[in-house]
Amino acid sequence: MPVRRILQLGDPTLRTISATAEPASAATVMQDLEDTLAEFRRTHGFGRGISAIQIGEAVRLIFLKVDGVRYELINPEYTWQSAETFELWDDCFSFPDLMVHLRRHEKVRIRYQDSGASWTELEAEGALSELIQHEMDHLDGILAVDRAEGPHPLATRDEWARQYQV
Ligand SMILES: [Zn+2]
Repeated sequence: MPVRRILQLGDPTLRTISATAEPASAATVMQDLEDTLAEFRRTHGFGRGISAIQIGEAVRLIFLKVDGVRYELINPEYTWQSAETFELWDDCFSFPDLMVHLRRHEKVRIRYQDSGASWTELEAEGALSELIQHEMDHLDGILAVDRAEGPHPLATRDEWARQYQV
């Protein structure tokens, strides 16, 4: 149940393509992800999702907590992504003081396994959709900075707040 150190931008491990997870033995890492997410929220005041590679575990596991709902995603994969996209400012535990302007699919449908290896399908839009896309990118070593788009796509969190928050 320990809180783990979150790897930071520049650590080459974040570029790893994570391996398929063994559903029956995912519980320990999943618990560490939940504890690490909770601690990050406590210390930073934001945060809804974390991927196993961010604590140095190169397996396809994601933990989300959105509006009080927990999601344990084992080996998630897309079954559909909408053609429609939207733009947003994204952030990441691995570079918490950097905001990145990018584009995501409006809706996605994924399937993922539970600890008994059964598959569940989930369709998401809006905040949950972009969060899932962010975390699934981590499983393939892709970071939000790689998707930076627009004339001024990067901002420190402080400057972003000055420029865009009213
Ligand atoms: Zn991230």
